[in-house]
Amino acid sequence: MGFLTSCSNDDDGLNPNINTTALTQADKDALLFMLEEEKLARDTYEYLDNLWSINQFGNIKNSEQSHMNSVANLLTQSNVVYEILPYGEFTNTEIQTLYDQFVIDGSTSMNNALTIGATIEDLDIRDLQDYIDATSNIDLISVFENLQCGSRNHLRSFFTAIENSGGNYVPQYISQEQFDTIVTSGNEQCN
Ligand code: MN
Ligand code: MN
Repeated sequence: MGFLTSCSNDDDGLNPNINTTALTQADKDALLFMLEEEKLARDTYEYLDNLWSINQFGNIKNSEQSHMNSVANLLTQSNVVYEILPYGEFTNTEIQTLYDQFVIDGSTSMNNALTIGATIEDLDIRDLQDYIDATSNIDLISVFENLQCGSRNHLRSFFTAIENSGGNYVPQYISQEQFDTIVTSGNEQCN
C-alpha cells in the first residue's frame, strides 16, 4: 500500500490529505462563493453577538472563521486569487443583500436574531449540498462535507435556543424532512 505512505510525510504545514487535483472553473467559483457565504455567517454572528451577547453567536462565529480558513486554504493550494473584504462587506451582491437584511431583522429581537442564525445554517447546508452534487473533485467534496457537518451542529444549536424560548423555525431552503432528521439527531464530531 505504498500510496498510503507516500502522502503521509508532508511537512509543509498544509493538509496532507489534500491533493493537487486540478479544480475546474466551476469548482473555483464554488469555493469563491462559499468563502463569502461562510463570511456571511461569521460577520452576521459577530454583529448579533455584539448586539445580544447570546453565547451561540460567540461560539459559532469562531467556527465560521475556521470554515473560511478551510476554503481559503484550498484556494491557496490551487493558486486561486481571492480577497476577504472587511467585516460586513462582500463582493457578491446577493450575499451583501442578505447580510444587510439579516442585521436589520436580527436587531429587532433576540428571537429574531436566533431565527437569522437558523436561516443562515439552513441556506448553508442547501448551497453546500448543491455544490457537492455538482462536482467530482474529492478535495472540494471533503472540505464542503466538513463545513456541512459544522452547519448541522450550528442548526441544532440555534434551533434548541429557539425552542427553549418558545419559538419555532420552519426551514426555508432544505426540506422539512431533512430539517427534522438533523434537529432530532445528536451533535456530530466534525473534522
Ligand atoms: Mn460554516
Ligand atoms: Mn454555521
